[in-house]
Amino acid sequence: MITALRGMKDIIDDAPKYEYILNTAIACAKRHGFNLIDSPILEETALFRRSVGESSDIVGKEMYEFVDKGGLNVCLRPEGTAGVARAFIEKKLDRANGVNRFFYRGPMFRYERPQKGRLRQFHQVGVESFGEKSVYEDAAIILLARDIFDELNVTYRLEINSLGCERCIPLYREKLSAFLNRQNDLCDDCKKRKEVNPIRTLDCKNETCQKIYLDAPPIADFLCKECREDFGALQDILTRNKVLFSHNKKLVRGLDYYNKTAFEFISAEIGSQSAIAGGGRYDKLVEQLGGKPTYAIGFALGVQRIYDLIALPHDKREGVYIGAIDKEAIGDIFSYASRLRKKVKTFVEYEPKKLGAHLKNADRLNAEICAVIGEDERKSGAIWIKDLSNGAENKPRLNDWLERFL
Ligand SMILES: [Zn+2]
Ligand SMILES: [Zn+2]
Repeated sequence: MITALRGMKDIIDDAPKYEYILNTAIACAKRHGFNLIDSPILEETALFRRSVGESSDIVGKEMYEFVDKGGLNVCLRPEGTAGVARAFIEKKLDRANGVNRFFYRGPMFRYERPQKGRLRQFHQVGVESFGEKSVYEDAAIILLARDIFDELNVTYRLEINSLGCERCIPLYREKLSAFLNRQNDLCDDCKKRKEVNPIRTLDCKNETCQKIYLDAPPIADFLCKECREDFGALQDILTRNKVLFSHNKKLVRGLDYYNKTAFEFISAEIGSQSAIAGGGRYDKLVEQLGGKPTYAIGFALGVQRIYDLIALPHDKREGVYIGAIDKEAIGDIFSYASRLRKKVKTFVEYEPKKLGAHLKNADRLNAEICAVIGEDERKSGAIWIKDLSNGAENKPRLNDWLERFL
């Protein structure tokens, strides 16, 4: 028997949750002025090496990379931002004025050890905003994520940090490197990160490393005036809009392209430490990928990460179930159903059945109305109706009843 690959999961039982999360997030993103972008799942590997960065676990260890039949090194996207930025530049939007706001949703791929809430193919909804420098955009993006979680009834902790800019971060990097070079007990990963992007060491999960980094110089002490002011302004705006947050000085995010604002939403469920959404500013990325310098900020939300945190709204009965008692009426009810389907969700049963069986079927399908035609109804041009939400029964004229929907 052939089964799905390890870490890859069919969306069947979870389909209602999956759909509910996606629909909710997309509706929020649209209200905030974001438009759909759908970029390819397969991209040149170089795109992720140049954006996500060599020091990240994603590029270092987790990419689904292969050489295609044309000899090109390609990769299943491990995250969404790089592809959207690539599309933004390719479409020359970096040369146009104004702000471009996109949302995307779809599968991402990372070859890591599968565990609860962590799959090798997982889904993200994300947003990217290009061309806005104002810190109000940082706040707006965080408020969008907040709105999505509020609407889904997911409780969270929000952590924010500033990762500085190209003016202030080089000095910090030097100080941090000097600190790291004095340490003897860094894990192997951090020894590598230290060389490629020292800041990435700070969120190492290794306990020995975490203890060492308690004494590391904090980024906050090195921020330039603009970064300090923007970070202060962001905190004011969030407070004014009743968003609770904490300043996590060690928050650096797992990707190399962030600067200034970085943030993570972490589930507030007891015992949970995992980020359910995260993002930040990446003002250098478009330029790094060959475009014109463009301010940018975004976040992504892990769909599977929040499966266990949401309760689906109570399913309301919906639609019409239509069946027949005798074989002669099947052709007719099929035609009625085809017409009804233009306006209302409709189920039709192809086999004649007794009334009780039809009622059971309609109930199982969660239909609101059970409509049945027997010999009597056929002869008198009527239809038997039961409203399953309140139990009311009646027998209207067939044409009148159909007209009500059409
Ligand atoms: Zn700065
Ligand atoms: Zn480490």
